[in-house]
Amino acid sequence: MAYEVFCDICGNPYVEWSEYQGMVWCWRSLKDTRGTGGVFDGPIPVNGSKIMGMCLDRIDLKTGQWLSLKIVDGKMEYEPFGNVFPAIFDPKPLDYIT
Ligand SMILES: [Zn+2]
Repeated sequence: MAYEVFCDICGNPYVEWSEYQGMVWCWRSLKDTRGTGGVFDGPIPVNGSKIMGMCLDRIDLKTGQWLSLKIVDGKMEYEPFGNVFPAIFDPKPLDYIT
């Protein structure tokens, strides 16, 4: 389930992220569609979403920079946390585990 996003055509809750940006795939309608807004329709309680296991961090796909969401004085800020590309493409970081 994609963050409580339903199919906007038939209401099916069992949708998957589509290969198209901003779309979901509905297994009942067999279509790529925009879907409903899901939990992103309204204000997201940041700490509440953490409890539910949702990660609101970002990855800058151009640089590979992992941006970790922090709450500073009640405001959301993204702090650089590291680079995800070496962990994915470079086997060297695995050496740190042993
Ligand atoms: Zn549908």
